[in-house]
Amino acid sequence: MDTTVIIGNGVAGTNAAATLRKNGYEGAIKLIGEEVALPYQRPPLSKAWLRGSDRPQPTPIRPLSFFQDNNIELMRARKIVKIDRTKRRIRFSDGKTTKFDTLILATGAAPRRLDVQGADLKGIHYLRHLGDSAGLRQALAGADCNDVVIIGAGVIGLEVASAAVEQGKTVTVIESAARAMARVASPATTNFVTQSLTDAGVKFLFNKKIEGFGAAGHRICAVNLGDGTEVKADLVLAGIGATPNVALAEAAGLECDNGICVDQDMRTSDPKIFAIGDCARGDNIYAPGKLRIETVHNAISQAQIAAAAICNKERPAPVPPRFWSDLKGMKVQALGIAAGYDLVRSDATQDPSALEVHLKCGDRLVATETVNLPSRQSTLAKAISPAALIDA
Ligand code: FAD
Repeated sequence: MDTTVIIGNGVAGTNAAATLRKNGYEGAIKLIGEEVALPYQRPPLSKAWLRGSDRPQPTPIRPLSFFQDNNIELMRARKIVKIDRTKRRIRFSDGKTTKFDTLILATGAAPRRLDVQGADLKGIHYLRHLGDSAGLRQALAGADCNDVVIIGAGVIGLEVASAAVEQGKTVTVIESAARAMARVASPATTNFVTQSLTDAGVKFLFNKKIEGFGAAGHRICAVNLGDGTEVKADLVLAGIGATPNVALAEAAGLECDNGICVDQDMRTSDPKIFAIGDCARGDNIYAPGKLRIETVHNAISQAQIAAAAICNKERPAPVPPRFWSDLKGMKVQALGIAAGYDLVRSDATQDPSALEVHLKCGDRLVATETVNLPSRQSTLAKAISPAALIDA
């Protein structure tokens, strides 16, 4: 019997398994991940998990019964250490092996680590897994936690800043670029969001370089900036981006370049090996150039594309990339990819507080961004057109 093995049981891997079955795939499916928990959603880890008094529970991607009912062998707490492409086998960390006919790499990404003096001090946090979020939640609740410093004004950093300021902390966000969310949103949206968070009490320091950390014993007590400024800190969250988990693919000789390189069917340089989600980089018809997109929507879309290719089904119709964020009462939503635009139209209202931004390249609507306008999403999604059509 044909066997598809999926390495990584996050949202990409789990959706690939589910879509293979939905497409009528009759072979064996092994869904393998190194984490202990039932596959769970990451977005709540920087939102609901950091708020409220009740002990948070993981949000499962599918209930356990789903895997049993669909004959998907879910293997948890199992790490894969090698792919043998010649023998078509993968090796687990305990030395056991299993064979595959088709392999899907859904290995995700890992937080980029700080590389400055004092980066290993206690009190410096990263956020990716359940345990990270539980640790951050507990640290924020500590009686001695007053001054919170967020390094990196990306989406995750701003979400943690929102949760911390809601808890009455003194919050400073330090960013090396000139504005927040510079990688994923237009200045119109980031200015709106930054102003709202500033009004809520968050202090922003832009164009600042981290020089190192001040210590009180083994604990952090300050963040030292390149210009000589010292920012008091009881807790630091580093949200400085993520690097794709490509070590297995690289060691197996698959082509990698800031992600595992894939074609439009999510095939790697080995036609029987696919890569999807945060670890994959390839074309996206909504923007020129190769892209690696770190969103839930992208992980699900790419899982569907790979599953269609494996089942010899037609590639799903393209839909614009999208992401959302919850920031201090603001529902931020983006459609398309905010790159390659030359015209910005933005409409803001104060009461109710809302924003709609259109990013255009000539006549083409490239991307939209909204704050507090969820009802506009389906209309806007239809208006966005691809940058290029990929040959079928
Ligand atoms: P992952 O979720 O990282 O899953 C990969 C899995 O593979 C991991 O469990 C990993 O441990 C496992 N693995 C890796 N290597 C091996 C190996 N060798 N052997 C076994 N297992 C292995 N996106 C949004 O669109 N909206 C949001 O609001 C949002 N909020 C977020 C908040 C946080 C805190 C984080 C961290 C991310 C957020 N994202 C959000 C991004 C989104 O969660 C990711 O894009 C998505 O989880 C990617 O899914 P994935 O399956 O590709 O990777």
